[in-house]
Amino acid sequence: MTAPTPPPLDLAVVGLGAAGGSLAWRLAGTGVRFAVVEPPPSSARRTQLRTWCTWGASGPGPFGHLVAASWSQLRLVAADGSEVRRSLDPWRYRMLHSTDVEAAVRARLADAGVPVLTGVVEELTASGSGVAVRGEGVDLAARRVLDTRPVPVPRTGRTLLLQHFLGRRIRTRRPVFDAATVTLMDFRVPQPRGGVAFGYVLPTSPHEALVEYTEFSRDLLTDEGYDHAWRDYLQRSGVGEHEVLGEERGVIPMTDAEFPPHPVAGVVRFGAAAGAVRPSTGYAFSAVQRQSDAVAAALAAGREPVPPQVHGRRHLLMDSLVLEAVARSRLAGDELFVRLFRRNPVHRVLGFLDGTTGLADDLRLMASSPRGPMLRTVAGRYRRRSG
Ligand SMILES: Cc1cc2nc3c(=O)[nH]c(=O)nc-3n(C[C@H](O)[C@H](O)[C@H](O)COP(=O)(O)OP(=O)(O)OC[C@H]3O[C@@H](n4cnc5c(N)ncnc54)[C@H](O)[C@@H]3O)c2cc1C
Repeated sequence: MTAPTPPPLDLAVVGLGAAGGSLAWRLAGTGVRFAVVEPPPSSARRTQLRTWCTWGASGPGPFGHLVAASWSQLRLVAADGSEVRRSLDPWRYRMLHSTDVEAAVRARLADAGVPVLTGVVEELTASGSGVAVRGEGVDLAARRVLDTRPVPVPRTGRTLLLQHFLGRRIRTRRPVFDAATVTLMDFRVPQPRGGVAFGYVLPTSPHEALVEYTEFSRDLLTDEGYDHAWRDYLQRSGVGEHEVLGEERGVIPMTDAEFPPHPVAGVVRFGAAAGAVRPSTGYAFSAVQRQSDAVAAALAAGREPVPPQVHGRRHLLMDSLVLEAVARSRLAGDELFVRLFRRNPVHRVLGFLDGTTGLADDLRLMASSPRGPMLRTVAGRYRRRSG
């Protein structure tokens, strides 16, 4: 006699990164019958370690206790060396390590008896009233699947820039960092054509910081190119003798393309694979927290676990115009960011970049951005449409 087939799970969550982990944290212990699948550390499909930053009054989401460092002041440096410094009070800019988030989520799931399968999902197919989830080390059935695996970037948008960076954690000989201040953007570096470049500094003590050289542009650099640009930034920003403690690289697509839904009924894409990355910033962590809240609430109420629209239409339109204006070299990205922070309260700009501002604030932000380049971009679109 064969053993009876177990009833399908309510939900399978594919991937234990920012999106999968955030949702799994909220679902643990709620009575939803679910499992999570994440590749083994040796798998090429597994996402590399990441440093995630967010800002706001509290949080991010339920992970406030995992914040590894936070800053109460923010600094931008214009190309000419002049500075914009702002107090973030009562907000903070916060940093989390993906390793800490993953370990905490795994511990919570273990306590709640939720299985985390080590496997690589290769196939999601409709099966009966649910979905069959199969791959290396995985064979399960679930009524619904939330799929957070990375997808190829859609080429259907107007503009695609890449946010790419090399970050190195360093320890300096002299105390050169202000540990209360995050340098969000330091534009004292050569600017690429059709893009923008800056240094980004997350200090954890007067002697230690994660220092990144970041570009928003069409093309990646070579290894030597990143190394050269990183060293050049260090020299320009006056950081002297140092030792390198660690390194992090990344490429984040910044696009106004729509991310297509998964073709299989019962499978919903979630996270970066569903367009959670804000096109103008490359940030997604806090948007994913909002979406995870909504999906968990939907499941608790017996509704379909469909994440709500992640970014508002107005914000996406504004992002799309900025991306196009920068990519077509109509707008100098460094001037735009410095100007926005100079002419607006810091919470308005950060609120906009996080997707939480309303119409009144957005109109004020638009009024303080360089009008000529934006109007030329709108006019260019109109001409293309009517031509
Ligand atoms: C280097 C880097 C730094 C970033 N920093 C920030 C930041 O500071 N702030 C911010 O807001 N945003 C940041 N982002 C953007 C965004 O928040 C991150 O990309 C975030 O990790 C997206 O979450 P996700 O769950 O959609 O994808 P991921 O975190 O990549 O999670 C996808 C998961 O799926 C798993 N997986 C892959 N293939 C399979 C498979 N076949 N089967 C099963 N599982 C699979 C992966 O191992 C991974 O755990 C950063 C992005 C990058 C690339």
